[in-house]
Amino acid sequence: MPVLEIRNLTKIYDGRVRALDDVSLKVQRGEFLVVVGLSGSGKSTLMRCINRLVEPTAGQVLFDGVDVTAASPEELRLVRRRIGMVFQHFNLVRRSSVLTNVLSGRLGYVNPWPSLLHRFPAVEVERAMANLRRVGIEEKAEARADELSGGQQQRVGIARALMQDPEMILADEPVSALDPATSHSVLRYLEEINREDGTTILCNLHFLDLARRYGTRIIALKAGRLIFDGLPSEIDRDRFREIYGEEAQEVGVS
Ligand code: ADP
Ligand code: MG
Repeated sequence: MPVLEIRNLTKIYDGRVRALDDVSLKVQRGEFLVVVGLSGSGKSTLMRCINRLVEPTAGQVLFDGVDVTAASPEELRLVRRRIGMVFQHFNLVRRSSVLTNVLSGRLGYVNPWPSLLHRFPAVEVERAMANLRRVGIEEKAEARADELSGGQQQRVGIARALMQDPEMILADEPVSALDPATSHSVLRYLEEINREDGTTILCNLHFLDLARRYGTRIIALKAGRLIFDGLPSEIDRDRFREIYGEEAQEVGVS
């Protein structure tokens, strides 16, 4: 069974903006699926419909066989626990420590609003440290989040997502705020998590070179429609122009 199945998903905002138009796809466990497409093509909407941060207008989302679109609040909470999220602008609490930010990924399991570090169980603190070690910034645990560079902040974002032991990670343009070299230093951790833990990754990326480098499969959206679904190697110059049109140069066609 696919870990994720999307059936005829449509999202219309405000009764007029068709952000997703009849999108269907299946994602197998362990895939690193990269979603590409121009700005406004529906990438974020697709991601946010998966855990219903956005309510789909029509269609179905099944996560591990559970119909997310028909889920009760309690079922939805359980599904969301199994899906980690990594955000474009990191979404860290800037004035809190790195460690506290990572521990907050565990909210829902422990005391809902622990304002002080010592209210987290020691075993959770250990796990948080292990996850920081995993993304190579253990030594920053006590630093304030906003003292870190962008790349380091996103690695904190990944460590925070790992606190859920997620089966799937949704990463919405996780490196679009970062320069190319730093982008690799973030994406390689998602790649490592994907390969070592078998965690399914869905990642929206703007640049095709990154999509090709990290994706085991690529889908492309254009005006809310799925216009490509295949292997990175299958996107040739013509395909690329079809996906990106006039902006092809800007996003790295060669
Ligand atoms: P992408 O992530 O690929 O840039 P989005 O999913 O953000 O695309 O947007 C797809 C379309 O939906 C765009 O036309 C965008 O303007 C529109 N849209 C996105 N979010 C909203 C919203 N909350 N309300 C109205 N329109 C929206
Ligand atoms: Mg977006």
